[in-house]
Amino acid sequence: MYDAIIIGSGPAGYTAGIYLSRAGFKNRLITGYSEGGQLTTTTLVENYPGFEKGIDGNELVKNMRQQAASFGTEMTFGFVEKIEGESSPFTVHLDSGEMLETKAVIIATGSSANYLGIEGEAEAIGKGVSACATCDAFFYKEREIIVVGGGDVAMEEAIYLTRFASKVTVVHRRDELRASDIMVQRAKSHQEINWVLNATPVKVHSDMMGMTGLDIRDNATGEVRHLKADGLFVAIGHHPNTEFLGGKLELDAKGYIQTQPGTSKTSVPGIFAAGDVQDSKYQQAVTAAASGAVAALDTLEFIENK
Ligand code: NDP
Repeated sequence: MYDAIIIGSGPAGYTAGIYLSRAGFKNRLITGYSEGGQLTTTTLVENYPGFEKGIDGNELVKNMRQQAASFGTEMTFGFVEKIEGESSPFTVHLDSGEMLETKAVIIATGSSANYLGIEGEAEAIGKGVSACATCDAFFYKEREIIVVGGGDVAMEEAIYLTRFASKVTVVHRRDELRASDIMVQRAKSHQEINWVLNATPVKVHSDMMGMTGLDIRDNATGEVRHLKADGLFVAIGHHPNTEFLGGKLELDAKGYIQTQPGTSKTSVPGIFAAGDVQDSKYQQAVTAAASGAVAALDTLEFIENK
């Protein structure tokens, strides 16, 4: 019997493992298919404290994994298909067929950026197409950038990118922006931002050197035209990775796991949530790591009181 099964291998999951193992609690972490989570899709992480010159995202999560393993967290590469049981203890079912008995579960499965799903996009991810301006803007100094989306994040990303890019163009599928008035005003006050509204992206073009442009279709006339660009930032929302829960836990209006304020406690005692899967707002590596520590401490308290 495990004290805790941790699901997810980003900063939240590894931090939970470090805390639980260090406290002498038997735990196993199930990585998911994209081991390391979203940090592995970026390059240099410059805003995680403790690394004056920044650290490669892959290296950062590798260090976290080794730190958790050094204290005794067991690791299994795989995917959790189901958590069985209405109350503690639970049975966690892996895609390998293995079943793990555990007193507690920490869900740290993160969220995934939505992409457009258009021709040429998938092969250009990480080579011109990004879903995170704060991660990758630095690499587009004096380059031409397109931001797709009309929400608050698209406005924020466009404003942020003006610090780096020579030209920023926002492409949005409707005439009207979804973003709040204040964010729209802020973005519109930047003369460097160009606006292409009522247009649907249809194809990403790239060559050996990276992205070269985006084809967009004018929704009023149907005309397709080419916009030259070195980078495309897709800002059309994220989705939390909760499908495997099958409705077991209460979710908030946006589909994120609902936790009791200031804790990692979900609607089922003994199941805790940490990181982006329960945070639609901050979604930073450092906030995810912090919430992993909170989940581990809540788990320790739960087991000790049981
Ligand atoms: P939103 O859901 O607010 O916006 C997503 C945008 O992407 C919409 O404009 C939508 O278009 C567009 N979109 C969705 N799917 C597609 C597609 N397939 N092709 C083209 N465009 C598409 O998500 P955000 O990530 O911007 O924001 C998430 C939440 O975080 C929001 O609640 C936001 O308010 C909040 N937030 C608040 C901030 C602040 O207040 N400062 C800062 C950052 C985030 P359409 O409008 O046509 O549906």
